[in-house]
Amino acid sequence: MKAAVLYAPKDLRVQVAPDPAPGVGEALVRVRAAGLCGTDFRIWAGDRPVRYPLIMGHEFVGEVAAVGPGVQKVRPGDAVAVEPNYSCGQCALCREGNRNLCLSRTAVGIDVDGGLAELARVPARCCWPTPKGMPLASLLLAEPLAVVVRAVRRSGVRTAETAAVLGAGTLGLLAVQVLRTHGARVLAVSRSGRRLLLARELGAEAVQSLSDGSGADASRRFSGREGVDVVIETAGTPEAVEEALGLARPGGRVVLTGLPHEPSRVQFSTVVRRELTIIGSMIYQDEFPEAMRLLEGGAVKADPLVTHRFGLDAVGEAFIAQQSAASIKVAVIP
Ligand SMILES: [Zn+2]
Ligand SMILES: [Zn+2]
Repeated sequence: MKAAVLYAPKDLRVQVAPDPAPGVGEALVRVRAAGLCGTDFRIWAGDRPVRYPLIMGHEFVGEVAAVGPGVQKVRPGDAVAVEPNYSCGQCALCREGNRNLCLSRTAVGIDVDGGLAELARVPARCCWPTPKGMPLASLLLAEPLAVVVRAVRRSGVRTAETAAVLGAGTLGLLAVQVLRTHGARVLAVSRSGRRLLLARELGAEAVQSLSDGSGADASRRFSGREGVDVVIETAGTPEAVEEALGLARPGGRVVLTGLPHEPSRVQFSTVVRRELTIIGSMIYQDEFPEAMRLLEGGAVKADPLVTHRFGLDAVGEAFIAQQSAASIKVAVIP
């Protein structure tokens, strides 16, 4: 098979690699589309160390090409979205229902070979068959959507509450839509105004570019009170975390799902004085079916978010496009 293999930081080579064979409980997936995200870029750039050589790619969909012994969940020919994280199932965290927090969690495309290849070998339990009649490519965003479904659920948002989404990348634009399905009114806030028009088209009632004015002011105007009830932070920068806290009303909830890699300067006295609830939300553990359902029913639109498509041979260009301001989700089509 053809695969994009990372040998060292920024040394990504498209080459012929041996076809993987599915073992007990595993499925071999013929990859039809793989999405790139910030994590992939960090791995490619060497900011996130991995064992080399590695076939990257954790957001992907495809058809089951073969299954190993003991597999019941899927059959060859099934179209599937892949849940690229699986836990050990044995530790205290797994047993008490915190599989997403398992310290022995395996991430496909990060800890083991992933989907930037024609074929990928994954545990069959990670394969979610696509709803009948649903085009496979429409499920490419199932993985980031599962992240957002969990973050929004952890906010406890209720109908008619006000919410602000910080960041207008893939996660932010999905969060706007998921919040709408909960009946919340949504303000989208981002550093540049570039994608705020799209945020509006996808259901944000109001938008604020931080280059044009204060997020906290916009949040007060939008909510008609001291700030919004709920904030979903998706940008994952230290500054965004500070900004997120300023958008919430006293007594509000702030869910952090972007992953800042540097420390944030947060004035914690404001957290105490305003009794803010800060909630971390780490990937997903039971959210894939809900993500698939939202895509199937059209409540969440993923297609407008896929801005670029490249063949596997052009994966280097795909990484360049992924860093460009014009891109939202870049897809690689093996
Ligand atoms: Zn990702
Ligand atoms: Zn575990």
